[in-house]
Amino acid sequence: MAKELLVVGAGTGGLMLSNQVARQLAREIARGEVRVTLLGDRDEYLYQPGLLYIPFGRVQLQDLIRPVRDLLVPGVTFLHDRAERIDPETRTVTTRGGRRLTYDYLVLATGSHVDVAQVPGLAEGGHWFYTVDGALRLRETLARFSGGRVVIAAGLPHKCPVAPLEFTFLLDEWTRERGIRDKTEIVYAFPLGRAHSIESVADWAAAEFEKRGIRLETFFNLESVDPVKQEVTSLEGTTLGYDLLVVIPPHRGDTLARDSGLTGGDTWIPTDRHTLQVGPYDNIFAIGDATGLPVSKAGSVAHFQAEVLAANLVSLLTGGSPSHRYNGKAFCFIETGLDRATYITFDYTHPPQVTPPTRWVHLLKQAYNRIHWLNLKAVL
Ligand SMILES: Cc1cc2nc3c(=O)[nH]c(=O)nc-3n(C[C@H](O)[C@H](O)[C@H](O)COP(=O)(O)OP(=O)(O)OC[C@H]3O[C@@H](n4cnc5c(N)ncnc54)[C@H](O)[C@@H]3O)c2cc1C
Repeated sequence: MAKELLVVGAGTGGLMLSNQVARQLAREIARGEVRVTLLGDRDEYLYQPGLLYIPFGRVQLQDLIRPVRDLLVPGVTFLHDRAERIDPETRTVTTRGGRRLTYDYLVLATGSHVDVAQVPGLAEGGHWFYTVDGALRLRETLARFSGGRVVIAAGLPHKCPVAPLEFTFLLDEWTRERGIRDKTEIVYAFPLGRAHSIESVADWAAAEFEKRGIRLETFFNLESVDPVKQEVTSLEGTTLGYDLLVVIPPHRGDTLARDSGLTGGDTWIPTDRHTLQVGPYDNIFAIGDATGLPVSKAGSVAHFQAEVLAANLVSLLTGGSPSHRYNGKAFCFIETGLDRATYITFDYTHPPQVTPPTRWVHLLKQAYNRIHWLNLKAVL
């Protein structure tokens, strides 16, 4: 009997993990000893980091999307269907399409998504760039923008810990380039008492804000938007008027794990910080945005976790035992304007230090945006 690996979610983590295992176990798969199945509710992959550039017209949407089937290495079977329920007792996953899939090892890579409806008035009065439709709509609005007060308000947790800062720096330079910076006030509102959840990044961002004349509004947990008065209000009772509101909406995990009784009511999946095991189940794992781990929700995190878990699954699928441990590693490029960038790298025990931005790092980020596809296929 073939050993079955079932991966749910054909996004960054799910693709990387499936491809890495299939590459390393190509012979076992060819001999029928191992099967790798990737189950995804979308048959197109979206490179989400590219959404940052859409509002500024720096990237076209078609450059961010590829069919999932083009991103698979031989040995991975892709099923376009949605997982609806996991039964750990019988080791089965049932799908919306009526499939009943069995597994020896299950990986949940179901990601996270924004929940705009959670903030009253936001859909009518605000903008965001975390979805395709949102980014395209913001591009149209920015094209007509001739100045006024822009409020950028981030919620926590959110994907890509630095994307709201990157958007703010891009907006600052974009309005300068268009000659409307002196008519534009930029306000950055953040839920904590500083500009970022990581202290060293917050200190660096606050100094950048000061230099660029960006106002920082702390302890601002978004509560509601009044689209008629053009005002946004926080749980703390602060109200800010705006001409343009750009929000990082609240995030949620997929309901699959919760509805299968794996999470204790939340949508974030309880995951071991080193082994990536889910709850008490030694054959169920989670990677990427879907976990409840205290790490950034970032593609790089999904990547580093996929590497660790793939190595452990290769052992398990061939009769060995897992020995690799995830150490909290994360890496983020930070665009600090239209032609400069920096980066941060950190793990559970080493906080990041921000180095001075350079054109070279910006070019590296642009290059990575173009070769990301190779990373998904485990070529890099
Ligand atoms: C604007 C923006 C900028 C970003 N910038 C960066 C950056 O610069 N660097 C960086 O590292 N990260 C960045 N990110 C974050 C990065 O894109 C995510 O962290 C990464 O995609 C997470 O990978 P994942 O595999 O966990 O989830 P995803 O890539 O979101 O994939 C999850 C997949 O699972 C599918 N799925 C969910 N539930 C089910 C189900 N029940 N059945 C079947 N399929 C299901 C979803 O449809 C989706 O296809 C950015 C994100 C955004 C939005």
